[in-house]
Amino acid sequence: MLQNIRVVLVGTTHPGNIGGAARAMKNMGLTRLVLVEPRVFPSPEADARASGADDILASTQVVASLEEALTGCSLVLGTSARDRSLPWPMLNPRESGVKVVEQAAQGLEVALVFGREHAGLTNDELQRCHFHVHIASNPDFSSLNLAAAVQVLSYEVRTAWLAGQVPVNAQASNQPARESELATMDEMEGFYAHLEQTLVAIGFLDPEKPRHLMARLRRLYGRSEVERPELSILRGILTETQKAARGEPHKRKDQ
Ligand code: SAH
Repeated sequence: MLQNIRVVLVGTTHPGNIGGAARAMKNMGLTRLVLVEPRVFPSPEADARASGADDILASTQVVASLEEALTGCSLVLGTSARDRSLPWPMLNPRESGVKVVEQAAQGLEVALVFGREHAGLTNDELQRCHFHVHIASNPDFSSLNLAAAVQVLSYEVRTAWLAGQVPVNAQASNQPARESELATMDEMEGFYAHLEQTLVAIGFLDPEKPRHLMARLRRLYGRSEVERPELSILRGILTETQKAARGEPHKRKDQ
């Protein structure tokens, strides 16, 4: 079950932190590490700091974009040391552990995303996450070392897992039973691109003045737990909207 959980490090500068993160993960029973454009990897410094977690480093996946790192995921948590401009659904580390374990126990893929040492995650990257996680810290000195932040979250995942606070099935929680599988991040990205194109085509979104429209829509759909057949309906609506905008005839099943 813990294998459904991946730790994603974006743009890591210091290879020592990659090793430190691998060690923190292995201590807590997590195994899947994904690196998005690390500055240096593999590296002897990473090996040294991993001190025994070399199996995690050996199976670490290196990818070119966050989008690629999130392929197949239906829950994404992004960590941030600071408040960002657009308020987003927040979880504390304890709640994150419970949420992650709940989803992973249902066989769903989950990602915990961590940012760059100096700049964290960009707004764009944070907007790809369903929830933001802030580790309560001294407001005057709020950034933890990257590997330390991975340690805190991994520990909370393990704590939730050990506590067995996992509903046996969806009925056991206060959520209605799910009819179909949740759409994955890559499927949602395809939808967001389609939605954006359509909104531009019908003149609702001005590419010169996008404001926070796409971010707000990502936040809306991100908290909706969209299932795959529901996503097909949304895509179908967009396709028909685009046709209508081009003045093409409607597709009606009863005609
Ligand atoms: N100066 C950066 C700090 C980056 S610290 C910023 O202001 O965002 C590197 C990474 O460690 C962060 O991107 C985040 O993933 C994690 N991290 C550090 N401190 C954290 C905190 N208090 N809460 C949540 N994540 C934290």
